[in-house]
Amino acid sequence: MHKPLKKIVIVGGGSAGWLSAGIIAAEHAIDHATDSATGLEVTLIESPDIAPIGVGEGTWPSMRSTLKKMGISETDFLLECDASFKQGSKFSNWHTNTNEHYYHPYTLPHGFNDTNLAPFWQPFRDKISFADAVCTQSQLGEHGLAPKQISTAEYDFNANYGYHLDASKFAIFLQKHCTKNLGVKHIIDHVTQVNPSETGDIASITSKNHGEISGDLFIDCTGTSSLLLGKHYGIPFVSKKHILFNDSALAVHVPHQRPDSPIASFTCSTAQTAGWIWDIALPSRRGVGYTYSSSHITDDKAEKELRDYITPIMGASAAESINIRKISFSPGHREKFWHKNCIAVGLSAGFIEPLEATALALIELSAKMISEQLPANRQTMDIVAKRFNTKFLHRWQNIVDFLKLHYVLSQRTDSDYWREISDHKQCPDTLQEQLLLWKTQPPYHYDATHTEEMFPSASYQYILYGMGFVTDPPLEKRLDSSKKADNLFSENLKHTKHLLSTLPKNRELINKIKQYGLPKI
Ligand SMILES: Cc1cc2nc3c(=O)[nH]c(=O)nc-3n(C[C@H](O)[C@H](O)[C@H](O)COP(=O)(O)OP(=O)(O)OC[C@H]3O[C@@H](n4cnc5c(N)ncnc54)[C@H](O)[C@@H]3O)c2cc1C
Repeated sequence: MHKPLKKIVIVGGGSAGWLSAGIIAAEHAIDHATDSATGLEVTLIESPDIAPIGVGEGTWPSMRSTLKKMGISETDFLLECDASFKQGSKFSNWHTNTNEHYYHPYTLPHGFNDTNLAPFWQPFRDKISFADAVCTQSQLGEHGLAPKQISTAEYDFNANYGYHLDASKFAIFLQKHCTKNLGVKHIIDHVTQVNPSETGDIASITSKNHGEISGDLFIDCTGTSSLLLGKHYGIPFVSKKHILFNDSALAVHVPHQRPDSPIASFTCSTAQTAGWIWDIALPSRRGVGYTYSSSHITDDKAEKELRDYITPIMGASAAESINIRKISFSPGHREKFWHKNCIAVGLSAGFIEPLEATALALIELSAKMISEQLPANRQTMDIVAKRFNTKFLHRWQNIVDFLKLHYVLSQRTDSDYWREISDHKQCPDTLQEQLLLWKTQPPYHYDATHTEEMFPSASYQYILYGMGFVTDPPLEKRLDSSKKADNLFSENLKHTKHLLSTLPKNRELINKIKQYGLPKI
């Protein structure tokens, strides 16, 4: 019980496995000399027979600090992972299906820390969109501009950003960095058995060619098979299919129309008959996919909608013949994530759907907490596990509510899918309560009940007001004007004009990075 925790074994070499390995190894000095009193050894084992899922191409801004902490050069990352900049999401046809759109940008509303601009914007809601009124980034999106300049140092920005990346290249890039620079041991072998100790902890795993591999802590990154937490321990899966219906995806890689076509720096999310299509632009191609509910549309019909979407990009005959990959998933998560000496991170812990790219962010948060709260020995592990489970259960609930918000505000009635998913009867009570409150007061800092919430109240504002939600405060609380708010609105307009005239196009910046690299910090 008092023996120091020395050996971490990660099973799985997708984004979850390598991000966890990198985050933990970068923070804790790795020393392979087993006689060292302080050295922590991180071993990652991945199967040669099961490829990583290879989707998951949109990240949050948190990925910048994750990569930076791992000691990764942003230039190397951008070039090797075919990555570009992501400044948020653009939602089309989610509200009324009348060619409308709105933005959820990564920049907070101007002056957000001490002034809530939402009530002051309400009287002008028909004249200017909420995002345009309070931040610069929706206009950067409309003009296809990058969030920084070639002279801006690595990881710094003019407008907050995450990335669009090639998921397969990302896993290989992380593997190279973790093994070469961070001392992570890499084993390619298939795990065939999980071996418990007398206490019920995992003592070791057995692999086909490397025999038994023992450890003090096991991180299950085995994807949807959830080999350790799900299969070995039988921790129940909590389905969310009754709230968020999507359980299937069709994914395809599409070439740009021309080699110099603009690279969108927002994930374009376009609502369809029974789900939505993501469109993620990388420097060399676009990743496009339709995520939908198999209870509401057949695969064939979904495929037709996807082919219709890509036809204007690549022409009818190429769109007809391109190979499309089908992925099925169950929206939901495990009842708990840390059990005994085993933690599930990534798809093995759960997955709701691709909307708002929450999965990689959750992996980063999980690995960060494991690393920062790493128990010194087995005696304190259950205390940390309890905290971890409470925190992450709250986060999963948060994700479900936030994703459901995108659907429940829709006015679409053109298919059973939209009529049913927007029905408030399917809405969790927690979200129902908030929606009631937001009718008379806009979201703000009090909406965050925990530290390090997944989504700031600003994100709720962008979705609510983008989807036409009306906050109508009682007469005595109406705020039609304030000098401070007026100043913030005009400062934002001025700042927007300035950025529109100074920032390069997204592709122009990527080309310059290929040529010169970004300045190191
Ligand atoms: C359609 C779709 C779109 C998505 N889009 C996004 C997005 O835009 N943004 C985002 O953040 N997330 C997205 N995600 C989620 C994202 O893809 C995953 O969270 C991420 O890729 C992490 O996957 P993973 O590493 O958990 O699992 P996987 O990539 O499936 O890796 C599993 C690993 O476990 C190994 N393994 C399995 N069994 C064994 C065994 N017996 N022995 C040894 N090794 C084993 C495999 O070899 C593999 O290396 C999306 C998911 C889907 C389904």
